[in-house]
Amino acid sequence: FSLPESVNEPINPYAPGTRERALLKAELERQYHLELDIPLIIGGQEVRTGKTQKAVCPHDHGHVLARFHEAGEAEVRMAIDAAMAAKKAWEATPWEDRAAIFHKMGSLISSKYRYILNAATMLNQSKSAFQAEIDSTCETADFLRFNAGFMEQIYRQQPISDPHVWNRVHYRALEGFVFAVTPFNFTAIAANLPTAPAIMGNTVVWKPASTSILSNYYLMQLYKEAGLPDGVINFVPGRGSMIGKVALEDRNFAGLHFTGSTGVFNSMWKTISGNLERYRSYPRIVGETGGKDYVFMHQSGDVAQTAAAIVRAGFEYQGQKCSACSRVYAPASRWPELKERLLGLLAEIRMGDVRDFRNYFNAVIDEAAFDNTMKYIELARNAKDAEILAGGKGDKSKGWFIEPTLILTTNPKFVSMEEEIFAPVVTIFVYDDAQLDETLKILDETSPYALTGAIFARDRYVINHLTEALANTAGNFYINDKPTGAVVGHQPFGGSRASGTNDKAGSFLNLIRWTSPRTIKESF
Ligand code: GLU
Repeated sequence: FSLPESVNEPINPYAPGTRERALLKAELERQYHLELDIPLIIGGQEVRTGKTQKAVCPHDHGHVLARFHEAGEAEVRMAIDAAMAAKKAWEATPWEDRAAIFHKMGSLISSKYRYILNAATMLNQSKSAFQAEIDSTCETADFLRFNAGFMEQIYRQQPISDPHVWNRVHYRALEGFVFAVTPFNFTAIAANLPTAPAIMGNTVVWKPASTSILSNYYLMQLYKEAGLPDGVINFVPGRGSMIGKVALEDRNFAGLHFTGSTGVFNSMWKTISGNLERYRSYPRIVGETGGKDYVFMHQSGDVAQTAAAIVRAGFEYQGQKCSACSRVYAPASRWPELKERLLGLLAEIRMGDVRDFRNYFNAVIDEAAFDNTMKYIELARNAKDAEILAGGKGDKSKGWFIEPTLILTTNPKFVSMEEEIFAPVVTIFVYDDAQLDETLKILDETSPYALTGAIFARDRYVINHLTEALANTAGNFYINDKPTGAVVGHQPFGGSRASGTNDKAGSFLNLIRWTSPRTIKESF
């Protein structure tokens, strides 16, 4: 027999007057006033350390949504022990049963948890209803269901046998626990990083981001309700450096599944390499890190399409996607039209509270992000070779709001063309149409990252030329489309260079990293 077919979860638009919109609004209201006390969850048990932090609304940072308990060293060790204790039974669970649990999670998200996860993601991570829907509902359900299918695809890969010899590959789980470290910006990534190793029979210690605790806690409830056994995923919020040190120095550490900054990933990799002798096996290291994603427009490109892509990829979710467009190369011959379009679109963007569904744009995640972004904007404001074309103002008195900002520079290596800001700031360089190849070379050499990129061109020979010239600049490359919004099962996601190990989330290429295959030959 085979598993149910994995299909992508349809996007609900929450149109005015619909039942779904009323349900989501009611759930937002409920969670807004709940003030949950969020424990650690270790081996299925709630653990309260008494050392708590606040979870707030970025659009109204005085408003406390929840308090969450932080792990100390002892709790991280408890979580490792719980993962190791749950391992044997979980690994021995038939893979069809593991798949059934994951399909049940998908099904629960389609119904009841859709509202719970969307509301939590909106309030605590400052996503609009649409951004929450495509993330915490659609992509999360997609990861859970499709990963079950990818697991099946891997297990069915078997070597050749003959009447006298039976060769088989047993896709064992890793010998030890997997450490998952997740970012605030996608509830789906917070779901995928622990569950992708788990579906392959591994048990996991999960350190969620402190700024997305609400939705991440509800994910734990979803897993339990779907029947995931206690101890398979252990939820340990707290200080990353301490939790990382305890996990990475443990003899049973077997793999790291990470999304976050390049700096943190590099330092974890160094810690791992310093501890190699302690481990049973060479650990699997899988990470998706930073990006400095581009839109490159050729003179044959469509202006309206390019402008819409820049605005959507640059400013949806306040530019806080690893895939967000943050640098643009525009041909001088088309720049006046493109500029007019961009300014027109920006003038329509409404910014504010996530509970008002007309707001396309909300707040950045926290004060550190706000301050860091304003520093870059000030740099541009004071630079001789840059100017602020639109936006540029920030106000943190109530929420962490920064206007969608366009910087125009005459220097293709201007600091905001090169460094990741992770915020609603897009920098534009206008190139001379006659300098196409020189500009492509500069694009390739300007930033250390290679996550996503998009080109806009109509001429087929040009499309081919750009695709070839930019071969190493992006793990996800888009032709006449925006560089965000990869869909599970459609565009496997990940980048190279300083953007990560390119183990393509949402494909069997990622899941295969969570197995340690044993080849068995039996002669008759
Ligand atoms: N997969 C997301 C996209 O294609 C981006 C993920 C991320 O921000 O890490 O937009």
